[in-house]
Amino acid sequence: MADAHMANAETFAFQAEINQLLSLIINTFYSNKEIFLRELISNSSDALDKIRFESLTDKSKLDAQPELFIRIVPDKANNTLSIIDSGIGMTKADLVNNLGTIARSGTKEFMEALASGVSDVSMIGQFGVGFYSAYLVAEKVIVTTKHNDDEQYIWESQAGGSFTVTRDVNGEQLGRGTKITLFLKEDQLEYLEERRIKDLVKKHSEFISYPIYLWTEKTTEKEISDDEDDEPKKEEEGDIEEVDEEKEKEAKKKKKIKEVSHEWELINKQKPIWLRKPEEITKEEYAAFYKSLTNDWEEHLAVKHFSVEGQLEFKAILFVPKRAPFDLFDTRKKMNNIKLYVRRVFIMDNCEELIPEYLGFVKGVVDSDDLPLNISREMLQQNKILKVIRKNLVKKCIEMFNEIAENKEDYTKFYEAFSKNLKLGIHEDSQNRAKLADLLRYHSTKSGEDLTSFKDYVTRMKEGQKDIYYITGESKKAVENSPFLERLKKKGYEVLFMVDAIDEYAVGQLKEYDGKKLVSATKEGLKLDDETEEEKQKKEEKKSFEDLCKTIKDILGDRVEKVVVSDRIVDSPCCLVTGEYGWSANMERIMKAQALRDNSMGAYMSSKKTMEINPDNGIMEELRKRAEADKNDKSVKDLVLLLFETALLTSGFSLEEPNTFASRIHRMLKLGLSIDENETVEDADDMPELEDAAEESKMEEVD
Ligand code: ADP
Repeated sequence: MADAHMANAETFAFQAEINQLLSLIINTFYSNKEIFLRELISNSSDALDKIRFESLTDKSKLDAQPELFIRIVPDKANNTLSIIDSGIGMTKADLVNNLGTIARSGTKEFMEALASGVSDVSMIGQFGVGFYSAYLVAEKVIVTTKHNDDEQYIWESQAGGSFTVTRDVNGEQLGRGTKITLFLKEDQLEYLEERRIKDLVKKHSEFISYPIYLWTEKTTEKEISDDEDDEPKKEEEGDIEEVDEEKEKEAKKKKKIKEVSHEWELINKQKPIWLRKPEEITKEEYAAFYKSLTNDWEEHLAVKHFSVEGQLEFKAILFVPKRAPFDLFDTRKKMNNIKLYVRRVFIMDNCEELIPEYLGFVKGVVDSDDLPLNISREMLQQNKILKVIRKNLVKKCIEMFNEIAENKEDYTKFYEAFSKNLKLGIHEDSQNRAKLADLLRYHSTKSGEDLTSFKDYVTRMKEGQKDIYYITGESKKAVENSPFLERLKKKGYEVLFMVDAIDEYAVGQLKEYDGKKLVSATKEGLKLDDETEEEKQKKEEKKSFEDLCKTIKDILGDRVEKVVVSDRIVDSPCCLVTGEYGWSANMERIMKAQALRDNSMGAYMSSKKTMEINPDNGIMEELRKRAEADKNDKSVKDLVLLLFETALLTSGFSLEEPNTFASRIHRMLKLGLSIDENETVEDADDMPELEDAAEESKMEEVD
């Protein structure tokens, strides 16, 4: 037998990353090994879901084994624990691919997360490599499996770099499904104990919707009379009574023997939790259900359990996790965590039509009474019932988020994890845009350490303030002292800091809140209309700066679209604003960082910069005087170029030529330190004349 077995065995090498993962699982110390059982049961449950789904359209798929079950068999004589399911099974190709030669994207991520201490081994299921957790407790694993489309095969491995696959001709035939036999390590024999297994199933797998049977051993004591010793027979009730009556007389004649019997004991409940009344379900029960549904090791942050009745009926439980998953915005994979059931029968777990992408982080189940059981993916796309369910789910999700917002600490957690999703929602879901906007939070010039909502902002708006002001940028630090905020701050207007890359996109769609326009502090069109008399008078004075504007524009050439007297700055000499409908400096930064963007778009969107100058600033006043005296004064050119470059920086743009800029600054330093240029001949040779440098860059610009 053993020889025949060896004869047709094919040996395969584990893929490199899987091999690494296996050594990590085997050689690293983890105390929480018990999760292996949950992972294997969860795989069985998935396999059962698959065959049940196939059987909805073709009943004959169940012929080889009509019953759907999971069975657990501890074998103390051989120190093995087997998990058997009548699921879909694996073909030979499945075995080779799924259990060893093709690594999931999660393999590497899981190892990194383990190494960095972000995750512990109990999170293995979330990374799609749960099967390998078998090696936490086993030194050898044998997988026997039968798929409807193939013969029965045996996979076997003691890790160590390779596994074998063998055609199973002589073994006990499964009909259909998979049997995983773990040869337990010497110090892991606790998993053969009935009590331990029952507790584990209760703890981690209670809500599996297939029956889980445990092969249990029952020892019954029997009394038999001495003369019946050789031939124990089954007791009948009548006999027992008789024995009782004649107890005293017979006592000496009878003796006790132990009889061992085995039976399958059902050890999980399987009644779907969503069918029960919400008020009768405890928080712990929801948490247990959430964990079994998602493989999460932490409890949920929020739950919404509801049913919709009327023309259309369905029940649903939705959960918000405490953290974002490791691959939240992995574009290779569409996130969808709602399981669809039809009249208690599991249909599919990644039904895209059920919930929009931006809510892909919400987990849960939906059980519809109206959809047909044999619904196909194609049918789902135009299904009207599904559209209604989807609309309701989005509504309930937003309700749930608002409930989270009632607790500040919870909402902070939620917002850290999922604010990007809300903003994506603003961008994509025009119907719910206004409701989603209520959930956004920002730092602002008045919020201090806390975050503020649009709603709170509006309550703080000054009399006569019509618009909501915001500034976008790379970080809170980068924007809070921006020259753009000077006048707004001075006037006491609050400005929201939008420092997430996605804010640029979201605010571009949002445009207004509660009838109030959202106005960027860094773009053209910022009009502060509550002018005081003093300001009006100043405006008159500003006229004298119009000539200076022309001079500056002549010097800067194509670098700027136009030069105007500013309305928004108080202290700084000047700043650079962008067109109301073009990119902001922040957007330009974001787009430059996107390597694959289309360059032509960049040229079109990013070109229009307007320089705004501050007439109250001493530098500008001096510049005006010099320019009036002599338009071609060399120092005017120098100063204007330097001002332009510093304005690029303070306004959030990047410098195209940092070296030329640095040379200019060094020149200024020397002037300030009264170092005579002619005395340091070598340096002077290295450095371009200020004016020359200006000419140079002008040439390049034309180029
Ligand atoms: P995951 O279950 O997250 O996909 P695993 O490493 O646990 O990752 O399993 C890898 C694959 O092996 C599964 O996707 C499935 O195709 C197959 N598999 C594992 N266990 C079973 C089983 N009991 N029945 C059928 N296929 C299984």
